[in-house]
Amino acid sequence: MSGFKGLYIHIPFCLHKCKYCDFISFCGQEELYDLYIDKLSEEALEFEGENIDTIFIGGGTPTVLSPAQLSKLFCSINKTFNISPECEFTVEANPKTLFAEKLSVLKEYGVNRISVGVQSFNDDELQKIGRIHTGKNAYNTIDMIKKCGFENISIDLMLSLPGQNEDSLFKTLDTAVRIDPSHISCYSLILEEGTKLYEEYTLGIYSEIDEDYDRYLYHFTVDFLKRHGYSRYEISNFSKPGRQCRHNMKYWNCDEYIGLGIAAHSYLGGCRTYNTSSLTQYLNGDFHSKDITILNGTDKIKEYIIMRLRLSEGINDNDFFARFGEKFSGLYSSIIEKLIRYGLMSQNKDNYFLTDKGIDISNSVMCEFL
Ligand code: SF4
Repeated sequence: MSGFKGLYIHIPFCLHKCKYCDFISFCGQEELYDLYIDKLSEEALEFEGENIDTIFIGGGTPTVLSPAQLSKLFCSINKTFNISPECEFTVEANPKTLFAEKLSVLKEYGVNRISVGVQSFNDDELQKIGRIHTGKNAYNTIDMIKKCGFENISIDLMLSLPGQNEDSLFKTLDTAVRIDPSHISCYSLILEEGTKLYEEYTLGIYSEIDEDYDRYLYHFTVDFLKRHGYSRYEISNFSKPGRQCRHNMKYWNCDEYIGLGIAAHSYLGGCRTYNTSSLTQYLNGDFHSKDITILNGTDKIKEYIIMRLRLSEGINDNDFFARFGEKFSGLYSSIIEKLIRYGLMSQNKDNYFLTDKGIDISNSVMCEFL
């Protein structure tokens, strides 16, 4: 491990609540933005001087902040942390919240990766999930980002949206690859209880998500993106060569990270700590919940396996030995042998990874190691 940590900062504000969203995010609280940034800066001081080589500002919608508020936040990060010159610095953005002036501020403070929440280029699908933008808005936003000189752009897409079929997905993917981002994330819609969309499904407005069709769309996506130069490096993430998200790789590698902001968590020195999910509490300077998870040796091994099996490269026997003093192939020989026999896991020299069949039932496969 490098000694450099990842830094995640949560901005819990949005212009409008999407129908499928169960993230911690609030709308219509513009008057709290400045105070929230002040509190983030205060919380950051707890980690003053830490070495950071990836920053990810996520949400919510970080780009709801004004240029002045973004500057204030970035100034505070720069002052508090020791940031590597090689730092990957990502900001999540949503169409309709990003303008040239904000992009100039991002550039000025060293943001070098922008992750755009597109979800689909099909207006009917976007409207059904309550996004506030059209496909054209998303396209134009990405065009503007490119014109401002950002080369490392990621776009988020979603599968199994209401009304989505192979044809509409093809058109979305086709538009996506024409835009030529360096990275594409593709997650299946999950109906979370308590969301507007969950309610609409319960009322029968949309027919139930068919798991087999979801898998079909997923494999269609994997094939399409592969043919267009994007390799799947994680179950739901695809990139051009060398453009994997370095920040998210820290999570999948079980490396250390600091999380600032409401509902963020940190993983440092084998302990996971959690911030409060209450905005009022956070704004009162009461940042942390009392919960803490101390991972013992076995917990660390299990967590590493679960996270690494999400990656296409899987688990390397030698890396595993370097971390835990035992070989993965030795410690779990009978489970590995069974999974390989069932075609759920494969081996390439010292690496063990899930097959396509294993990915389709990844939760069950991972349970084998718990
Ligand atoms: S933009 Fe993202 S965080 Fe905000 S409501 Fe929509 S899905 Fe949730």
